[in-house]
Amino acid sequence: MNDLSKRKVGTVKEITSLTNPIIKDIKSLTQKKNRDASNKFIAEGLKLVIDAIDRGWEIEILIYAKAAAQKDIVQKTAAKVVANSGLVLEVTEKVLTSITRRDNPQMVVGVFKQKFTELNQLEPQSGDTFIALDRVRDPGNLGTIIRTADAAGIKGVILVGATTDAFSIETVRATMGSIFALPILKCDIEAFLNWQNAHDISVIGSHLKGSVDYRTIDYKSKPTVLLMGNEQAGLPDELASKCDQLARIPQVGDADSLNLAIATALMSYEARRHLLELD
Ligand code: SAM
Repeated sequence: MNDLSKRKVGTVKEITSLTNPIIKDIKSLTQKKNRDASNKFIAEGLKLVIDAIDRGWEIEILIYAKAAAQKDIVQKTAAKVVANSGLVLEVTEKVLTSITRRDNPQMVVGVFKQKFTELNQLEPQSGDTFIALDRVRDPGNLGTIIRTADAAGIKGVILVGATTDAFSIETVRATMGSIFALPILKCDIEAFLNWQNAHDISVIGSHLKGSVDYRTIDYKSKPTVLLMGNEQAGLPDELASKCDQLARIPQVGDADSLNLAIATALMSYEARRHLLELD
């Protein structure tokens, strides 16, 4: 893939051809190897793009449909991107469909620089809750968890081991903009356990064989990490054995387990119950 950053920047271009090389480069970001190589990703939706820019995320390319070109807010956003030396593309709906692979694409799409936070930058403070996910596989689950984490006031989502890509178009779509709202971290088991040892935190494993009801745990005394298991295999012993407690969410009926994103949502809201109020 060509380096998108070498494109002519600070300009507005009109593109109608599906085979335009810039469009080809943007489309290539739907593949992980190209996202990894370029450190870029695609995010869809006007509100989401505006929020991301306002939060300081670096936008490299703004793409909008011809039909949206006259909208005041689109013009303002385009001017901002041009002023920051970004590239602005006005394209046909067909081109947008080919980028997002959706029949009714969003009118606005952004190409952003990826941003991961380093684990050693995470200094847990009183009242903080983190989510750690062991080898999460499903992009829909990861996106939903990031969105829920944002809503519940979680301070960061830690991806432990080989995981699905936090910046894939499916994950980003499922976050509904929350990908831009909180730190995402990546590490292996060893680094996670070292970080755990270095801090006065409570790690609560969410486990089908947990002996403690998740509603009875003390989530207040220390910063808390909610450690969730992989969709198929659950938490490996290597991680489960290092948890301060293993929590179980009661179940009746025949279901073997809850969906990972649902279990994470229940754990997150319970852990933060004392801190969450309607305003
Ligand atoms: N077969 C897997 C297992 O044995 O753990 C099922 C994994 S479940 C789909 C994914 C994760 O969600 C689990 O590892 C656990 O962290 C959490 N989870 C799901 N249901 C749970 C429950 N009833 N109690 C506690 N955690 C649960």
